[in-house]
Amino acid sequence: MKLNDKTLVFFGAITALLVVVLTVLSAYSFRSFSLFMAERHARSVAETVKVGLTESMINGIIGKRQQFLARLADVPGVQAVRVVRGPAVVKQFGAGLAQETGADASVETVFGSGREAFEVRDTDRGPIFHAVIPYVATDHGMPNCLQCHTVANDTVLGAVTIDISLTEVRQQGIIAVILVSVSVLGAALLGLLFLRRMLKPLSETAEAVKGVTTLAVGGDFGKRITQRSSDEVGEIAGNINRLMDFLECEVGTIRDRVGQLMGQHAADGGNQLVHTAEMVEGLVEAFQFKQAIEEDQNKIEIYQRLAEVLEKKYDYRHYSLYEVASSKNHMTPIIVDGEVGGGCRWCDQQVLVDATACRARRTGREVNGVDMPGICTMFRPTAGENHICLPINQSGTAGAIVQIVVSPEEAPLAKCMVPFVAVYLREAGPVIEAKRLMEHLRENSMRDAMTGLYNRRFLEEYVTQLVSGSQRRKAPFSVLMLDLDYFKQVNDTHGHEAGDKVIKALAEILVRNVRASDMAVRYGGEEFLMVLMDTGAEAGMQVAEKIRGEVEATKVALPGMVLQKTISIGVSEFPGDSETFWQVVKFADVALYQAKTQGRNRVVRFAREMWNEDGHY
Ligand code: GH3
Ligand code: MG
Ligand code: MG
Repeated sequence: MKLNDKTLVFFGAITALLVVVLTVLSAYSFRSFSLFMAERHARSVAETVKVGLTESMINGIIGKRQQFLARLADVPGVQAVRVVRGPAVVKQFGAGLAQETGADASVETVFGSGREAFEVRDTDRGPIFHAVIPYVATDHGMPNCLQCHTVANDTVLGAVTIDISLTEVRQQGIIAVILVSVSVLGAALLGLLFLRRMLKPLSETAEAVKGVTTLAVGGDFGKRITQRSSDEVGEIAGNINRLMDFLECEVGTIRDRVGQLMGQHAADGGNQLVHTAEMVEGLVEAFQFKQAIEEDQNKIEIYQRLAEVLEKKYDYRHYSLYEVASSKNHMTPIIVDGEVGGGCRWCDQQVLVDATACRARRTGREVNGVDMPGICTMFRPTAGENHICLPINQSGTAGAIVQIVVSPEEAPLAKCMVPFVAVYLREAGPVIEAKRLMEHLRENSMRDAMTGLYNRRFLEEYVTQLVSGSQRRKAPFSVLMLDLDYFKQVNDTHGHEAGDKVIKALAEILVRNVRASDMAVRYGGEEFLMVLMDTGAEAGMQVAEKIRGEVEATKVALPGMVLQKTISIGVSEFPGDSETFWQVVKFADVALYQAKTQGRNRVVRFAREMWNEDGHY
């Protein structure tokens, strides 16, 4: 209910109540007052009658009493006056005049009680105040009643009945009540008009405040209130306007700033507050995401976390995450539709070997196939899907690409979410780059620069994993120790560069002969170590023999000539020869020494008798 209506209802109710109460009160008071006055009037008339009759008796003109009584009835308001003889007077002086006998019930009651009786009677001529007042004999008055009446003291001699008309009084009463009610109504009306006039600015301001705050709740702070007065109501209007100015300015600034952080233009329509709150929430989550990925161990964990955000937070079911190789023009699918290392499901295979074919990689900008279908020729939909590709920029170029694939129905919502996803990618970019760099450095520190093989440091770090894996699988592995024969001669005769070439040629032979699970390590200058996983000494010997044969057959081209070298190999086995890894390495070295002493260019399997605890062999 509006303030105006409430005032009306409240005032109406109060006025109605006031009219009823005042009407009842004034009617009751008027009635009481009228009866009181009628009673006094009756008493006066009774006293007049008594005095008149007594005087008539003394003066001997009692016989003319009827005229006196008839004249009394002419007194305004008095309708009838009658004197009724009591039984004692009738007995002493006879019945008297006709109208002096025939007492009615009220007179009989007064004769019996000796006390006055008053009542209001409704008659054909209107309401009447009927009073019956007894005359009681006394011996102490002037004149003494008992001088004439032979009765005992206090005997009721008679009674006077007086009828006083109340018609006029009642009319006056009704007029008075009407006047009171009209006055109250008039006063109430005036009060209401005055109050409404007073409340007008308040109710109008309240309406305006309602309108402005409703819009503000909806994120629109543009509306203002007209200040109608300079009192508290006007102050409220002024304060609301200042608050709206502040909100419009500050929320707008916050929205624009947050929009800048999000890389998003703040939309003008819609609820600014909700929109800004959503953006802030997105930023906070992205910040938390950044903290989490900074603590991740490697880039794969970050890619997985990113995939989780795509799937769980933004509900993308089809997507690809590609990594662009930093040195080569290659791209590798890291996670596709939730599958780690999945193939090239949504793109032409060409992008894998020629990263510049990927438009997002080439331009370093968002490629929106939803707004512009067919923008990238490399996209391969399966059932009319669209794609949005977002680069993860690292040092100015796209180091990775996120490809979101959506059906036409999903496209509008998916498109709205892109700025939010882009924030995650922006946070992830430098962190992935740092991890990639660290992994690269670590990888480099574990590899020999000349041959690309692992170095001794890698072996030292990897040994625990190697041994526990073998023990877990209960599978042995072979260790091969390899050393080129008479290598010093190469350096001495053909120079150090020629020597390097021979070492590189040997490394290539070793790489060709290892499986993915095996490893080839450049152990020293021209000394190499190989670990053949899940391979016993016997099979290890065969691999060693194969390598030896290949080395022997390899011709290393040098300027103006070709060089052929041989190699000696020692073979041992874990855990067959020892359950300590480094002891097994030592045994391979012992076997290698044996190969050298036996004439080189051969493979020798370690045997117990080659070794005694004193280190002699
Ligand atoms: P052996 O048959 O007994 O092995 O005779 P060897 O001459 O090969 O003797 P050894 O294995 O002790 O020779 C090691 C030589 O390898 C010493 C060093 O000049 C050479 N060498 C070590 N590292 C490199 C390298 O990186 N490049 C070149 N060019 N030579 C290296
Ligand atoms: Mg050597
Ligand atoms: Mg050698």
